[in-house]
Amino acid sequence: MAGLLFGTGGTPHSAKTASTIDGIKRIAELGLGCMEIEFVQGVKMGEAGARLVGEMATKEGVKLSAHAPYFINLNARESEKIRASQYRILQTARIAAICGAQSIVFHTAFYLGDPPEKAYNTVKQSLEEILSQLKRENNRVWIRPEVMGKLSQFGTVEEILDLCTELEGLAPCIDFAHWHARSGMFNSYQEFTSILLQIKERLGTAALDNMHIHVSGIAYGKKGETKHLNLKESDFQYKELLKALKDYDVKGLVICESPNLEGDALLLQVTYNTL
Ligand SMILES: [Zn+2]
Repeated sequence: MAGLLFGTGGTPHSAKTASTIDGIKRIAELGLGCMEIEFVQGVKMGEAGARLVGEMATKEGVKLSAHAPYFINLNARESEKIRASQYRILQTARIAAICGAQSIVFHTAFYLGDPPEKAYNTVKQSLEEILSQLKRENNRVWIRPEVMGKLSQFGTVEEILDLCTELEGLAPCIDFAHWHARSGMFNSYQEFTSILLQIKERLGTAALDNMHIHVSGIAYGKKGETKHLNLKESDFQYKELLKALKDYDVKGLVICESPNLEGDALLLQVTYNTL
């Protein structure tokens, strides 16, 4: 992995069309380095389409990741809902692999009133099944549960790192905006570096060489995240985060999920490069 790459969550607004192919072309034109394909409303891309996406990404030198559908809850009450959630993650990983994407990210679960330890065990078991299935398929895409922004959602930094410590093939998606919104803290250089140190201690230096990060401005209240904002309309201290990432020589993908997508992705890249 060559350093830290910046890109958008989904096709940039300024692309010719909303297609993934035009998205990749636009990322390259803008001088950005990566893009996350948003399968958030369902994996509607077929294998043939995925091969074309992979060819375009290679041609343009754009690294890809994929975001699984939102309709996932590995802590659902009904076993068929858990199975459907597992299937959505598997499908995302299968199509992502054909696209040449290195990682997929997903929102793991809701607590639904369960004690966090109980939800953790249910989620862990469910993920184990997914990982062993992907191993059988020889699928080597990194499976990344995301740090979530609402108190009702499974996915504190601690929970995500615990899962990654216990399960092989799992790696974190650290959404710094979500964590700030959820904790009401973690918005300074020192706090950002404390997370990076925690990752290094628990998962090893290799984890910092292969990071997947989400960033955006964010609005939040008592229950955590309310909505994403553009960085300059929010209180998020992105310069401090970028400085922490640079000082710890973090490598991997930074996906910007601000409403203005490429606007803030470019802001992040330019700021990072001038540090
Ligand atoms: Zn997400």
